[in-house]
Amino acid sequence: MSRIFITEERIEGEPEGPLAGRTVAVKDNISTEGVRTTCGSAMLEGYVPPYDATVVERLKEAGATIVGKTNMDEFGMGSTTETSAFGPAPNPNAEGHVPGGSSGGSAAAVAAGEADLALGTDTGGSVRNPAAFCGVVGIKPTYGLVSRYGLVAYANSLEQIGPLAPTVSEAAELLDVVAGPDERDATTREEGEESDYAAAADGDVDGLSIGIPTELLEGADEGVVETFWDAIADLESQGASYHEVSLPSIEHAVAAYYVIAMSEASSNLARFDGVRYGPDHDLEGDWNETFAAVREQGFGDEVKRRILLGTYALSAGYHEKYYAKAQDARAWIERDFEDAFSEADVLASPTMPTPPFETGESLDDPLQMYLADANTVPINLANLPAISVPAGETDGLPVGLQFVGPAFGERRIVRAASALED
Ligand code: GLN
Repeated sequence: MSRIFITEERIEGEPEGPLAGRTVAVKDNISTEGVRTTCGSAMLEGYVPPYDATVVERLKEAGATIVGKTNMDEFGMGSTTETSAFGPAPNPNAEGHVPGGSSGGSAAAVAAGEADLALGTDTGGSVRNPAAFCGVVGIKPTYGLVSRYGLVAYANSLEQIGPLAPTVSEAAELLDVVAGPDERDATTREEGEESDYAAAADGDVDGLSIGIPTELLEGADEGVVETFWDAIADLESQGASYHEVSLPSIEHAVAAYYVIAMSEASSNLARFDGVRYGPDHDLEGDWNETFAAVREQGFGDEVKRRILLGTYALSAGYHEKYYAKAQDARAWIERDFEDAFSEADVLASPTMPTPPFETGESLDDPLQMYLADANTVPINLANLPAISVPAGETDGLPVGLQFVGPAFGERRIVRAASALED
């Protein structure tokens, strides 16, 4: 069975506000007071949070109606929404194909019209990838723009909560509601004058300079690359200019990302020992045996693989070899992006190197699945904002184009993306 929602309880917001009358679907790793929050994992099957995430509080204050919690890869680990303990989510715009992930349920809810808007989370592409695969818009905000208070952490240093919507201006409207400092998340920052994102969706790209990182076209499918260049030609006809740029460090991005993400995950997921959360159990033996048995039952294969690899990367003797090296690569990638923004207003690439995978295709080959994140993970490593906007189709399957901006340059990427919609 495939499903978009895990929990379908309605939460009504205040009657007034900018989102009054609008329905929003919320990814199931974002805490909702009194409503089950599972992270797509058997480990949290019966867990009901006693408080709201900051973004949920802001949705309620803005008058939105939350229509349900959406399906996702277990704890956000995946690119297809197939690792969920609740079964896979469908792709409403590409039958027989995955909706992308890990926020696949959120993108599918918007694509199917089950919700006007949705929230997802993006640690290494999980908002942009499903947006691209389902033919909707998704924004990964600058690190620190949106509060992570109440988000069940996968990899804290990489992730942000971000909006999904049918159009750029609606995604930007939702970003306006959830963005902004929060005293309960010390990594949030004042975005200053760089706010009012919805107003930036004016389609005006006259004079915009677009940098195209050659490395992000190299591994992409021919049909995806053709669709990408058609979109760039369209922007050029509207007054934008483009030139190629190079980000030499980016070849290390996937390796660095997976070392950092798995290391942080192995530490974050240590708290799931079956004592405070998790399925009822009646196990015997000492603490270690009990914890091991609960974790063996509660976690799926992909989560276990990442806990094992992350623990290994952090262990004594290997820490310098893997984790410290990945941090060096991260710093180098950040510098390459800074250089690129000295010669371009925004950068553009295909969001995903391929159209949506067929259902089941990537489950047996995790490495292939990790490599498909090549264009999205560098952005998280560099803490930058990016948007995925539908750019057309190849063989009848949706293709997304990604614009990347400098830190807190959300208005620029919203503006560029809105020009493609016209
Ligand atoms: N596919 C990437 C991963 O599995 C990204 C996931 C995400 O952004 N949550 O880690």
